Amino acid sequence: MLNTAGTISLIMSKYDHMRINLDVDEIPKKWYNIAADSPEPIPPPLNPGTKEPATAKDLEAIFPKGIIAQEVSTERYIDIPEEVRDVYVLLQRPSPLQRATRLEKMLKTPARIYFKREDLSPGGSHKPNSAIPQAYYNMKEGIENLTTETGAGQWGSALALACAFYNMKCTVFMVRVSYDQKPFRRYIMETYGAKVFASPSKETEYGRLLLGQDKDNPGSLGIAISEAIETCVKQKNTKYALGSVANHVMLHQTVIGQEVMAQLKKVEETPDYMIGCVGGGSNFAGFAFPMMGEKLRKKNNVEFIAAEPSSVPSITKGEYRYDFGDTAGMTPLFKMYTLGHEFIPSAIHAGGLRYHGMAPTVSKMVDLGLVKGVAYHQNEVFEAATMFAKSEGIIPAPESSHAIKAAIDLALQAKQKNEEKVIVFNLSGHGLLDMQGYASFIAGKMNGSM
Ligand SMILES: *Cc1c(COP(=O)(O)O)cnc(C)c1O
Repeated sequence: MLNTAGTISLIMSKYDHMRINLDVDEIPKKWYNIAADSPEPIPPPLNPGTKEPATAKDLEAIFPKGIIAQEVSTERYIDIPEEVRDVYVLLQRPSPLQRATRLEKMLKTPARIYFKREDLSPGGSHKPNSAIPQAYYNMKEGIENLTTETGAGQWGSALALACAFYNMKCTVFMVRVSYDQKPFRRYIMETYGAKVFASPSKETEYGRLLLGQDKDNPGSLGIAISEAIETCVKQKNTKYALGSVANHVMLHQTVIGQEVMAQLKKVEETPDYMIGCVGGGSNFAGFAFPMMGEKLRKKNNVEFIAAEPSSVPSITKGEYRYDFGDTAGMTPLFKMYTLGHEFIPSAIHAGGLRYHGMAPTVSKMVDLGLVKGVAYHQNEVFEAATMFAKSEGIIPAPESSHAIKAAIDLALQAKQKNEEKVIVFNLSGHGLLDMQGYASFIAGKMNGSM
């Protein structure tokens, strides 16, 4: 910018501090892998039969080779194929980092609050960041069909979008409560050409078994994963895609955190806190791991906070042990914070957080004391969501609103102590298809105990 003396000034305008953008060619060229910096190895998945580390061959039944290589890699950086970066442009990457000045004013806090806009992708969440490369590597290996599970419908829509881009068929098992609560997400998946079944479904042996025991089974992500894997294994030229939890999903999401670091650097901010909500852990990991890697290399002292629902408290109340990723016990065993693979979460509106376990990488970081878990009730989460909507204008996803709640609590704490803390959170998605949840909150009908 030119200053009054007519010379180039490096001082940015006030708007540059409110919405911090990167150029399109600043989309990260590599994904970051926390396994390279972890002081202890990330425990490998185990074959449930032998209890030995799962071999590449075990994993080949459900994943393509390109993805398996990433799953087991300990390289710090992995190149993002140019074809994937081309699609990241369509996902509106790099996404802005925005300052929540109006929320700060509403809270009368001296803290500075920033949030990363993962709500701007065509799917409305961070999930396409991993759906695109997963579909891409499958397409490269000649796979024609992908199966998957979805909770709130975010991952299903992301994978349906990715399959539409690469001309693949997509079958989605959608958790029954979300299928009923959120029909519009199903229409989005179907618009992209996917086939969607309410899970438990009559399509699989496992689904039929569960429906036989209870025809009103509300379903869970764990059950939907079992159905997607059963279908994958029985069907020709078909692989399975997982929306969270696995190492390669965490890896793909690190475009978020690498962009955040570049954006904070542009405005010369060092965060005190970085906050994400956690279901299986992918948006949190993607947002936090690049900065956490630097902390492990003693380059910063950021505190990392993972926010979860008190009705699905895997980090705050779970055990750190090997457990299945699904309910039927078809997946390898993962070392993770878990509530047990048979845990059926209550029907909260943050459907994307209804998962019994936590990603092995995130779990390891919790175990090492690098990540602090916090848990909130549904009502206080929607209160925070409403404050954010009124002040910033964006209606946040109920999932993301757990991170907003944590950010607001820290901002109020900073106010009490009169400290200028820098708080950064990940807005993992928008809530425009979650208005049923907002409606029951406004009507005072939300179950406060969840
Ligand atoms: C799926 C989803 C989540 C939870 O999944 P993670 O893997 O923990 O990120 C959070 N927010 C939104 C908007 C989602 O769609």
